[in-house]
Amino acid sequence: MKLVRHGRKGREQPGLIDAQGRLRSLAGIVPDIDASVFGPAGQRALRRIDPQTLPLVAGRPRLGVPLVGISKFIGIGLNYRDHAAEAQMAIPTSPIVFNKWTTCISGPNDPVLRPPGAHKLDWEVELGVVIGRPTRFVREVDALEAVAGYCLVNDVSERAYQLEQGSQWNLGKGCDTFGPVGPWLVSKDEIADPQNIDLWLEVNGERMQQGNTRDMIFGVAELVAFLSRYMTLLPGDLIATGTPPGVGMGRKPPRYLQPGDVVTLGSPQLGLQRQRIRSAAQQPA
Ligand code: ZN
Repeated sequence: MKLVRHGRKGREQPGLIDAQGRLRSLAGIVPDIDASVFGPAGQRALRRIDPQTLPLVAGRPRLGVPLVGISKFIGIGLNYRDHAAEAQMAIPTSPIVFNKWTTCISGPNDPVLRPPGAHKLDWEVELGVVIGRPTRFVREVDALEAVAGYCLVNDVSERAYQLEQGSQWNLGKGCDTFGPVGPWLVSKDEIADPQNIDLWLEVNGERMQQGNTRDMIFGVAELVAFLSRYMTLLPGDLIATGTPPGVGMGRKPPRYLQPGDVVTLGSPQLGLQRQRIRSAAQQPA
């Protein structure tokens, strides 16, 4: 099942994409795409609905973040060998974990805002993993049972904030709009193997990244088990699992995003995102 939220920002309605790729409304059936929907019981209930009986949504409304209730947005760094090499960093022997503040989360096609003073804005196409149930100390063999589904994530990064301001990465990972998520939350029954998902990304139509999750150093089950040793993962928590090679920082010379650039990223299993880069206005919230 491909779950979506459609409509104006802050006013999104729940829906799904049917087998023919059409948007249908789940309004009145579920309150929102939240923990009640993507938990095990919620997914069973949804599977009993015949999508063909749901009303079609007219037009081409904006798609929002495909779920609400993300209490943690966790990033994994350098999880593909060739990306670690292009970043000129060592292959990790244990997952590198960082935070993306939840205020960075935005819709799959919303603009990405370059913060004032930022000048090394970069892209990272990634597989996102959505947790479906409270999870603590789960074994790797059981870890995929904790997963509700998958989504596409652009782990937008400002490299100067990430790498030139001390030993932490977080300042360059969680700026507003640095977390486009969606278009769909794909329930895990549609993903036969999370370690065989193609990912690609283009800037202004030029292919920059092309990868497959089979090349991850730490796979999805290993990451969920690892993180659950250090925190309780809650329904809706989102893990960005690392990016394949081809980021702007690794190009010679480096290629960073400028206002007006258009980033397109996608996956046959997870759908398509498209963001235009804009300058952020420096103004209070
Ligand atoms: Zn990343």
